[in-house]
Amino acid sequence: MGHAVMTHTQTQSTVNYTHLPTGTQDLFDQLMEQADNTASNTEYTALMKALITVTGITGVRHGEILKCACACDCPAIFDADAPDALVTEPATGYNLGRLQCPDCADDHPQPVTD
Ligand SMILES: [Zn+2]
Ligand SMILES: [Zn+2]
Repeated sequence: MGHAVMTHTQTQSTVNYTHLPTGTQDLFDQLMEQADNTASNTEYTALMKALITVTGITGVRHGEILKCACACDCPAIFDADAPDALVTEPATGYNLGRLQCPDCADDHPQPVTD
């Protein structure tokens, strides 16, 4: 099991995708796809803000969140700039890289592909 994390404030730095209402999951998928494909930095920032709002995630460092890209079908949505997250595939041609959440990076890190 993962490590127990003690927090002093009510932060929720990881959200379980499967715990979101179905409508929110659909919205999340749509916004994520748009954020991945937009060529506008302003739009990207706005989409990320919306994503953070709909998921209820808090404590995001640089305004970017991602769903875990781990092969284990992990439902974690997390801060893309979390120091423990593992980049398995850097962003190439798209805005978003593929990252494993801190738990997956810890439990079963995947080799980086290019
Ligand atoms: Zn994960
Ligand atoms: Zn995993």
